[in-house]
Amino acid sequence: MTAAGPRVEVLAGWGMAHHARSRVYRPADEEGVAHAVNDAVARGLSLTARGAGLSYGDAALNQGGAVVLTEGLAGVVSFDPASGRVTARAGTTLRELWTRTISQGWWPPVVPGTMEVTLGGCVAMNVHGKNHAQSGAFGAHVEGVTLLDGDGATRRVTREESPAELAAVVGGMGLGGVILDVTLRLKRVHSGFLAVEGWATRSLEDTLEALRAGVADSDYTVAWLDCTGGRAGRGVVHTARHLDEGHPLVGEGLDAEAQGLPSRIAGVLPREWAVAPLKALNRPAGIRLLNAAKHGAARVRGRSRYVQTHAAFHFLLDHVPGWKRIYAPAGLIQYQMFVPAESALSAFSAALERQRALGVPGHLAVVKRHRAEESAAGYCMDGYSLAMDFPVGRGEGYTRLVRLCAELDAVQAASGGTVYAAKDAVSAGLGRLPRKHDPRFSSNLVRRWQAASPHPQP
Ligand SMILES: Cc1cc2nc3c(=O)[nH]c(=O)nc-3n(C[C@H](O)[C@H](O)[C@H](O)COP(=O)(O)OP(=O)(O)OC[C@H]3O[C@@H](n4cnc5c(N)ncnc54)[C@H](O)[C@@H]3O)c2cc1C
Repeated sequence: MTAAGPRVEVLAGWGMAHHARSRVYRPADEEGVAHAVNDAVARGLSLTARGAGLSYGDAALNQGGAVVLTEGLAGVVSFDPASGRVTARAGTTLRELWTRTISQGWWPPVVPGTMEVTLGGCVAMNVHGKNHAQSGAFGAHVEGVTLLDGDGATRRVTREESPAELAAVVGGMGLGGVILDVTLRLKRVHSGFLAVEGWATRSLEDTLEALRAGVADSDYTVAWLDCTGGRAGRGVVHTARHLDEGHPLVGEGLDAEAQGLPSRIAGVLPREWAVAPLKALNRPAGIRLLNAAKHGAARVRGRSRYVQTHAAFHFLLDHVPGWKRIYAPAGLIQYQMFVPAESALSAFSAALERQRALGVPGHLAVVKRHRAEESAAGYCMDGYSLAMDFPVGRGEGYTRLVRLCAELDAVQAASGGTVYAAKDAVSAGLGRLPRKHDPRFSSNLVRRWQAASPHPQP
């Protein structure tokens, strides 16, 4: 057992725009986590767990309190290749998980846009993938967790014996305690490849309709959306299907090496070199150009059909390691609004219109179809989401972004929608857009479990 620390450190949200000063514990094992919790409680500090810290905003920050990192809790504990039932420690990343299980034909049932997230973070935020409408969010596939609560007690919470308690842990942002391990049902796959289809859409209406229809006859659906210029709302839709048992590629690609992301982008540019040219283009004219080029290329290709590895299809953003440096030093925020299906067209049209009017277009935007389900996270509705990345500018640009966020809040609220806490830190209910290290913008507006009030400074 080791319980290093705690040290006072400034941690950042993944988007680099939100920072918080906390007492940080780096326990090496479960016993160390229990020790950290007891120590933080004895000091009267509020406490939050932190996985890979890949939440864009403030979800894994805790200004003035304690943060327990779960990096020491890594590794698969047990895996049954016959049933696909796996138990892994909470700090295990999805990359570590699928690397271990794919050779036996098992893949995580739900993955977000990066494979570097931890299982604890996936449960606590109830993350969704490109198959939310078809297969539900991460929590729908969780059989149980081991939880360490604020009294230092450890207990098993399972779907079979304590479904209500498990439902509160799933999407509960870790407010119920530190998740120590997760038992999950994996998805059987017969090939390391997916059959992908992609095509360009002409308008927002077209994009939403393509996603709606795509859900009925595919396993995964997603659309990239152009938020720039006079054609904002056009996009590129991708659907993907698992290969059936008779397909010639069955049995192929089922190893970590085959799933490896290509070392060069478009076969030319080494992945590590991509940040500099993308950073040079990360300004209004460059972003318009990139969006137009992406749409234009898809239009020229027409309806394209090809096979792609699971990793390449799901983790597009992992193709460029450290791509967020494009937005350094001020960082980026992601605004993701979820709205009911019937109001998606008007809400997203209004969101695009507000961006145009304020001159703050989203640099990268993604639309997905979702389904309603029980989750403490509360974002899972029968509808669509629109996720938009914005650079956190300075001066006038910053002021316009703050105004845009408030206007997007109004659009989202008027549509009966909500935001997703894994991305959020700027919507009215949860916080504000912070300036670096400014204590007035302490990100700790989400109530932390075992909170001491008022929080003593670490
Ligand atoms: C490039 C990129 C793409 C993304 N795409 C998607 C997407 O498609 N869909 C989606 O849903 N999300 C997406 N996300 C968001 C990401 O999946 C979530 O924020 C996820 O929770 C991050 O996991 P993490 O391990 O980094 O958790 P952290 O960010 O460290 O923590 C997230 C929350 O979980 C809690 N937590 C973490 N570990 C534990 C634990 N062991 N016990 C208790 N509580 C814990 C934290 O307190 C915090 O509230 C994306 C993020 C990035 C950077």
